[in-house]
Amino acid sequence: MKKSKLYLVATPIGNLNEISKRALDVLNMVDVIACEDTRNTLKLLTHFDIHTKMISYHNFNEEIKTKEIIDLLKDDKNVALVSDAGYPLISDPGYELVNEVINEGFEITTISGPNAALNALVASGLDNKHFMFYGFLNSKPSQAKKELEALKDFPYTIIFYEAPHRINKTLNIVLEVLGDRRAVIARELTKIHEEFIRDNLSELIKLENLKGEIVLLIEGKKQTEEIDYDEVEKELKSLIDKGESIKEAVNKISIKYKANKNRLKDMIYDKH
Ligand code: SAM
Repeated sequence: MKKSKLYLVATPIGNLNEISKRALDVLNMVDVIACEDTRNTLKLLTHFDIHTKMISYHNFNEEIKTKEIIDLLKDDKNVALVSDAGYPLISDPGYELVNEVINEGFEITTISGPNAALNALVASGLDNKHFMFYGFLNSKPSQAKKELEALKDFPYTIIFYEAPHRINKTLNIVLEVLGDRRAVIARELTKIHEEFIRDNLSELIKLENLKGEIVLLIEGKKQTEEIDYDEVEKELKSLIDKGESIKEAVNKISIKYKANKNRLKDMIYDKH
């Protein structure tokens, strides 16, 4: 059994106190911490007086660093992977490494911590029973529109990450493709200026100068209510029994329940 492990350690998304005792223990215990940006992680380590060796692991050196980390594991060294904030791999590097570590038969453990999407979701007030985490839309508007087209009929809350300089453009594109829905901007989570702005997209597009880190949550497509055809049939029959013509009764009921007229007529001709 291979002893060394890769630890995926979630780190704070703002407030440095949001890190678990276990995460600090692991960052102290491992032989090497692979960081998205060593300068950034150094601030965290310095704050908690941790002196573990760091190496860089980011989008542009993934392949070569994956090999280096596998060699460390083969050498019985424990390695932690961290990103600049939140969970590694969640809109952050690490996917290639995790797969290679699995292929090589080493164990992987996750050390829980903050994640911007979940922090935003639970306080958003939008449906959280089912939801989709989408991450970043493509930065090219034409591509972003295509991505949104594919999400148009998704009935549950959708969570996007977005940069402050693009948020206004993105809100406009989302409004154009998905229509005017309830939405929430969750800004600067866990920080001093944390803010939740809950409104319809048509109002949110009017906001100017949104700063800081942003999660955008959009209500899913509303389902048309299911028609209770037993109820509809009873009401239709009752109108006719009271003397309404079939045409009038069908018209009234089809408007009230948004029911198909032919289906209503079939009900009558089957029964009368
Ligand atoms: N790995 C991170 C996680 O688990 O949440 C996400 C990293 S991703 C590169 C960075 C994006 O996450 C930001 O552009 C923003 O959309 C969101 N984000 C990160 N920290 C945030 C915060 N404190 N408040 C709001 N959004 C945040």
